[in-house]
Amino acid sequence: MNGTVIVGAGAAGLSCAKHLRQLDEARTITVLDKDPDVPYERPPLSKALSGAGPVSGGADELIKAGIDVVLGAALSLNTAARVLHTSGGDIAYDELVLAPGSRPHRPEWVSDEVHALHSLDDSRRLRQAVSAAGSAVVIGGGFVGAELAASLVSAKVPTTFVFREDALFRNRLGEAASDFLTRLHAEAGVKLIHGATVADVQPRQPALVHLTDGTTLYADLVVAGIGSHPDTGWLGDTELLADDDTIRTDACLSTSAPGVNAAGDSVSWIGFDGSLMRSAHWTTARSHGRHIAFDLVAGTHTPFLEPPYFWSMQHGSLLQGIGHVDPQVSDIDVVPGTGPKPGLLARYLIGGELVGAVAINHPQGFMAARAHVEQRAASTPVR
Ligand SMILES: Cc1cc2nc3c(=O)[nH]c(=O)nc-3n(C[C@H](O)[C@H](O)[C@H](O)COP(=O)(O)OP(=O)(O)OC[C@H]3O[C@@H](n4cnc5c(N)ncnc54)[C@H](O)[C@@H]3O)c2cc1C
Repeated sequence: MNGTVIVGAGAAGLSCAKHLRQLDEARTITVLDKDPDVPYERPPLSKALSGAGPVSGGADELIKAGIDVVLGAALSLNTAARVLHTSGGDIAYDELVLAPGSRPHRPEWVSDEVHALHSLDDSRRLRQAVSAAGSAVVIGGGFVGAELAASLVSAKVPTTFVFREDALFRNRLGEAASDFLTRLHAEAGVKLIHGATVADVQPRQPALVHLTDGTTLYADLVVAGIGSHPDTGWLGDTELLADDDTIRTDACLSTSAPGVNAAGDSVSWIGFDGSLMRSAHWTTARSHGRHIAFDLVAGTHTPFLEPPYFWSMQHGSLLQGIGHVDPQVSDIDVVPGTGPKPGLLARYLIGGELVGAVAINHPQGFMAARAHVEQRAASTPVR
């Protein structure tokens, strides 16, 4: 028996490995990863940039559980022969779980001097640069960019936050949450420049950040949080990839190749409502891994029905989201927070039905909305 091989020791891969072991003491489980620092979690990397830093940890627990962690890169896959070709040689499998996650997007203007934050090693280099920086520019208005801006001002580094959208998170979360988060950053001392596109960054001391409207920004430190791309190039010869380079699965997270499942950020799957879903969130990656483990051990093929959940921490405020959050297609009703910190609950409705919610410092409102959205997803017959 060759056992189960998992590519990627991130949130999805490790969750799958640990649940497999809990459910099946005898199974051979091999986890392959190209990052020498695994295992570690990514969410803490952006939440603070000074003080004690995140560290790698948990390898002992895996060894004790009899999970074999192999350092190396998956290079290609022969699905007919059930063999994974890796930098350390071929590995035969009975079942394969693909969980390679994503890698940061790097446009032409991103040189080595522009920091990205995806790995523990990135975080070490960034923290070292932060300790010597008198100013910073953060490029990219997503969650990682917003958390970086918050962490930099908290580390007492004057920070300019540049993003392409006309308002922070407006397209993603809608007007109320956008206004709230814009105010939060501005009041904490972040200088926000919206509607801005970076033309190039010249790595001098200080660096020059040129915007397409002719503005030049100067900073000791430049960090880009401009999105990521599925890390699936090595699967290019297979039939497993969709046009956007995600690994395409059915509703049960199974690919078209026998014995091959996929989990986490690199996957697109058929969601509970029949739509194609993607997630770049830790909780969903973990849940994917657990779901596949249960199916493998039980020999079942069950649909993954959990709606996406995400969270972010900015300037000490907790943002949580659940379900289908799309201001373009929803009506949004907003209620102010009731706790000691200012906050809000935004509920996203389609045809009068609650399909998603975002809360900022509103855990009680969020809990009720989450229960409703999860209940709806679980009871919708899969199309
Ligand atoms: C800075 C940062 C902060 C974040 N904060 C939050 C947050 O607050 N909340 C939230 O919900 N989500 C957050 N996320 C997102 C969350 O971390 C991801 O959704 C989650 O890690 C995805 O898990 P994954 O297992 O799919 O991929 P990853 O965690 O990316 O793991 C994939 C693993 O596969 C390995 N790999 C890739 N290709 C190969 C190959 N060919 N061979 C061998 N190994 C390979 C990689 O080295 C990597 O270790 C954050 C992400 C980052 C980068």
